Amino acid sequence: SSVHDYLREHIRTVPNWPAPGVQFRDITPLLQDPKVFRVLIDAFVHRYMDKAMRPDVVAGLDARGFIIGSVIAYELGVGFVPIRKKGKLPFTTVEETYELEYGSATVELHTDAVRPGDKVLLIDDLIATGGTMMAGKKLLEKLGATVMEGAAIVDLPELGGSTLLQTVGQLPLFTLVDFA
Ligand code: IMP
Repeated sequence: SSVHDYLREHIRTVPNWPAPGVQFRDITPLLQDPKVFRVLIDAFVHRYMDKAMRPDVVAGLDARGFIIGSVIAYELGVGFVPIRKKGKLPFTTVEETYELEYGSATVELHTDAVRPGDKVLLIDDLIATGGTMMAGKKLLEKLGATVMEGAAIVDLPELGGSTLLQTVGQLPLFTLVDFA
């Protein structure tokens, strides 16, 4: 559709960053232009304003998930909670470690960030292998919350993450732009 094309045109592709052979999809131009930023946020807000889709809490993944997640939460009139890379959160946390192409990563969430039974919308900028979003889902579930949907600006379907999240992960997904 026109919204998807409009957003796609404002994503910058940076070749060979952060490593040779990687095509990095840079979403910062979407944020920089106020008209595009509004179209982007409204695409999410429109979906989750609906009574049946409205979350109790929005959780954002470090770090670009914070930028859009907090604005979406504000517009929905719900709270925002950050899922951070290990070592950044000051209070008691739960943590989850997951595998990367080289090595592993650990993410954390404050134990009082959500309550059992909360319906959570989980936000990031992009889904590649799906490992980050899966770790976020596990953290929220450790605290008894239900992740109603994962949402991102970009999906890279060829990396298989979105398929894995929806099948093995049992997580419904909403994304705005695909890059094959
Ligand atoms: P995954 O865990 O493999 O799905 O990788 C997704 C995470 O890595 C997200 O938090 C993204 O912000 C980041 N990421 C991976 N590739 C890109 C990219 O091309 N552009 C922007 N972020 C990326």
